Amino acid sequence: MRVLIVEDEKKMAALLKKGLEEENHSVSVAHDGRTGLDIAQDFEFDAIVLDLMLPDVDGYEVARRLRKGRNETPILMLTARDAVPDIVKGLDAGADDYLTKPFSFEEFLARLRSISRRGSAPRPTLLTVADLVLDPATHVVTRADEEIHLSPTEFRLLEFLMRRAGRVVSRNTIVQAIWNFDDDVEENTLDAFISLLRSKIDRDQREKLIQTVRGMGYTIRESSKT
Ligand code: CA
Repeated sequence: MRVLIVEDEKKMAALLKKGLEEENHSVSVAHDGRTGLDIAQDFEFDAIVLDLMLPDVDGYEVARRLRKGRNETPILMLTARDAVPDIVKGLDAGADDYLTKPFSFEEFLARLRSISRRGSAPRPTLLTVADLVLDPATHVVTRADEEIHLSPTEFRLLEFLMRRAGRVVSRNTIVQAIWNFDDDVEENTLDAFISLLRSKIDRDQREKLIQTVRGMGYTIRESSKT
């Protein structure tokens, strides 16, 4: 499963991430509601683990905005309080199930499996820019019908750019979305990945899709539309 954890308690988030990765799941972490919302809107997940009490945008609001935007990814909410009104409010906002802290990892895993099975997330549609096609569900990328093999980070980077095709995305936005805030990402790490992507996608092609916008960031688009 691809799981997004939105939890401001870093120890708790790291513990859940580690446990899920040991079960071979792929995990992204956000430590505040706004970042969680951005990542949830930009990538496809099989389940979202959402803490209710978060700085800035709280869990209720994250769930509400996702559902309002027709994002149907199953949500397991975490609450430190077992007060019935909080739980009702969370379920009302669009959560599918809840767990009251503290909980065992086994129970967490069981609940997560159960909501993701019920999940009504529609199969994501293909992303295309000119003859470049990315399938978020199968992770297959092709250019002019030739399959391109990407590393997980290259794939995430390409998916992020393609979801914003035609728009300029700042370097900072990309770094925050692809690497976690708390990771130490060198400025030139992004440049290195962009140049890897270019070598796989644009080299040997007449039309270059990945473009540098000087002083601003990067964009992916058809050259004819610049
Ligand atoms: Ca919290």
